[in-house]
Amino acid sequence: MKRKLLWGLAGLVLAIGAVLLLGRGWLAERAFQRALDTSVGVDQSASLPDGINVYVCGSGSPMPDAARAGPCIGVLAGKQAFVFDAGSGSIRKLMRMGFPMERIQAGFLTHLHSDHIDGLGELLLQAWIGGSRGAPLPVYGPDGTDKVIAAETQLYDIDKGFRIAHHGPQVARPGGFGGTAQVIALPDGTDSQTVYDQGGVRITAIRVIHDPIKPAFGYRVDYKGRSVTLSGDTVYAPALVKAAKDTDLLLHEALNKRMIAALGAKLAERGRGDAAKIMGDIQGYHASPEDAARAANEAGAKALVLYHLVPAPPARLIEPLFLGDATKAYRGPLKLAQDGMMVSIPAGSEDVTFSKAF
Ligand SMILES: [Zn+2]
Ligand SMILES: [Zn+2]
Repeated sequence: MKRKLLWGLAGLVLAIGAVLLLGRGWLAERAFQRALDTSVGVDQSASLPDGINVYVCGSGSPMPDAARAGPCIGVLAGKQAFVFDAGSGSIRKLMRMGFPMERIQAGFLTHLHSDHIDGLGELLLQAWIGGSRGAPLPVYGPDGTDKVIAAETQLYDIDKGFRIAHHGPQVARPGGFGGTAQVIALPDGTDSQTVYDQGGVRITAIRVIHDPIKPAFGYRVDYKGRSVTLSGDTVYAPALVKAAKDTDLLLHEALNKRMIAALGAKLAERGRGDAAKIMGDIQGYHASPEDAARAANEAGAKALVLYHLVPAPPARLIEPLFLGDATKAYRGPLKLAQDGMMVSIPAGSEDVTFSKAF
């Protein structure tokens, strides 16, 4: 009797195993079909409210980080899309977030440090092919932007030929490849200026302080009474505070000087003098989390997100150490940016709502 039961059980286990094994292909096919139905070719921005929607496509810095792409902020204002900086790895995150590349109007560079332009080629490529552009992408930025755009255009010239030949000029439109540089030159004594004003969207370039890198800009986007302001790389900058007056969201860079000093000391102790010197040099041209909090307070910003985190806290446990006294200095909602973070700032309301695309 016992033996019979054992045989019966073994048979049942074998049968279940066979069903699972044979059904695996069917399950995989079902899952794949479901992914096709729900995401491919779907305009994921269609469900977003009218107003300003912010995509954090890169929250990192030049420091290597598997979870954070280099600096990049996507902004959808009404139906117009913009990208501010294109750090390494950021554009694929932007696309993964469902950013409507077919509606991109322009790119903006805060300054020409490599970590802010490493992904520029990918942005131009995605704007062209992913966005089906028939004209080059206008790219606004400081003096030297023309040189960078010319170099990127040259760099991708062979690839351009391959794609036009392969997909045909109806799909890979020859005229849509590359960018046109729109160099921003603020007159001496002027700290901010409108550089884009179309279809109800106004974008202002703001002179920030990132010496010896001059000029360096932050930007403010206004649409239907709502706004977002981003600092780019800067120390505490009075012109940014002024231009960010009453903004709904301030995205400010942040570097924790105590943590960077400790990193430098450890590098020096281990005989890495050059790297230790760099840790000393970078402290002078970035803002501390407390500086960012002060700027947000003085501007009357309704919410503050810190990005371009140096060093990015590798775990939640370390976040309070990174923030220091910033949470005391700024009383509104303060968050550390993560790649995939989205912020919704709907028109006709006071709301600032955070969510995650992944
Ligand atoms: Zn920089
Ligand atoms: Zn930077």
